[in-house]
Amino acid sequence: MVIVDFLDRIQQEQPEMISTLQELIAIPSVKADPAGADAPFGREIARALEYVLAWGERHGFTTKNLSGYAGHLEYGTGEELVGVLVHLDVVPAGEGWRFPPFSGTVADGKIYGRGANDDKGPAVAVMYALKALKESGVKLGKKIRIIFGCDEESGWQCMEHYFKHERKPDYGFTPDAYFPLINSEKGQMALKFEGRATADGDGVVLLAFTGGTRRNVVPESAEAVLAFPDQEALEQGKAAILAQGINGIAALALPERNQLKVSAQGVSAHGSTPEQGDNAVTKLAQALAPVEGEEGAWAAVRFIRECFGRETDGRGLGINCQDEVSGALTINLGVVRTEAGKIRMEVDIRSPQSANHETMKTKIADRLRSYGLQITERSTLAPHYLPVDNHLVQVLLQVYREETGDQSKPVATGGRTYAMTLGNGVAFGPGFPGQPETAHQKDEYFAVEDLMTCTRIYAKALYALAKEE
Ligand SMILES: [Zn+2]
Repeated sequence: MVIVDFLDRIQQEQPEMISTLQELIAIPSVKADPAGADAPFGREIARALEYVLAWGERHGFTTKNLSGYAGHLEYGTGEELVGVLVHLDVVPAGEGWRFPPFSGTVADGKIYGRGANDDKGPAVAVMYALKALKESGVKLGKKIRIIFGCDEESGWQCMEHYFKHERKPDYGFTPDAYFPLINSEKGQMALKFEGRATADGDGVVLLAFTGGTRRNVVPESAEAVLAFPDQEALEQGKAAILAQGINGIAALALPERNQLKVSAQGVSAHGSTPEQGDNAVTKLAQALAPVEGEEGAWAAVRFIRECFGRETDGRGLGINCQDEVSGALTINLGVVRTEAGKIRMEVDIRSPQSANHETMKTKIADRLRSYGLQITERSTLAPHYLPVDNHLVQVLLQVYREETGDQSKPVATGGRTYAMTLGNGVAFGPGFPGQPETAHQKDEYFAVEDLMTCTRIYAKALYALAKEE
């Protein structure tokens, strides 16, 4: 039986798979400035792409490098194309690792390293899944392509370039999220707001208001500097702010005359799940309510307090909505900065399948106007959805359930994956239900056992999708 044959082959490959993943982790493929022809995202990412394509050539696959933006290796013949989309770029390592982040150290049955899980481990799994299919000589009726993206973490320029030159697969999956699979991804709208925020007026003057680092991250801390007319007003203001008993709020009189610094401590979370965090910026706006003035930058703070409040569902802006497929809209105010008489904000909205981005934008712009603010930038991503009875969804679910015995249902998420660029595609693994998330964190790892399970699942899935009918 041919399936048994390719699964046997996978088991025998384990030592080589580990060393291939270690070699790939050892290439620190963090995005950098262009480094000449065929290295638009820097030399290391180009090197990672060259590494996997050389591997493909060594094992008899057809390969193609699209000017360093992306590449693929291909096997089989037929009209239809099955695509697997993985990425070779990684986010920066950060601090505090147990093992050097680009060492690929194996300990306690886990391979540690930046990219081990996101997304080099899954890339190695599909490479060896395809190798096992090829070497077992199974008859396929379709072509299979592993597409390697090189800019998933920052701009998706890779796929833009790739699909300008290459056709879209008829079916596809991307092993860059969770099992059993993700069939619904919310729409996304990224916005920048701006308004006048001068440090003037009678009464309490807002000199600065700052918090957050990135649009798609819930701010962990925020800070405001206020100037009071005199020392007595400062003492009263400080007492009124603290008397509210909001946790994580601190106030400190500054050496400058009559100035008070108020800071807020929150809890960070991914911008697609803001309800899991505690937004320090909106908390700070709330804390300042007892001393809020009328003029200068205060209108913008009042906007934050009234139109975000402590909610993350957009109701303050009148855009809250939900549907059965994707759940509720979420909104994250990720960055606020006052600078040179202006205030700027960055906002990340994840919207259900049924939401209309144009209507939302009009509502938000109307609301902003009454606070002297406006939208200065907007970019949107349409939602992505395949119904559960879709052929691809059914095939992948069945393979996953067979291999693991887990009957979990397909997942809807606010996160975005490469799946939408495939058209008829879903995210499929590598995270198993209940596992801790290590992608983008220190001590990222991929368990050897999971590497093997993923490879079996991907081999069976590719076979089921591409086999001769
Ligand atoms: Zn990824």
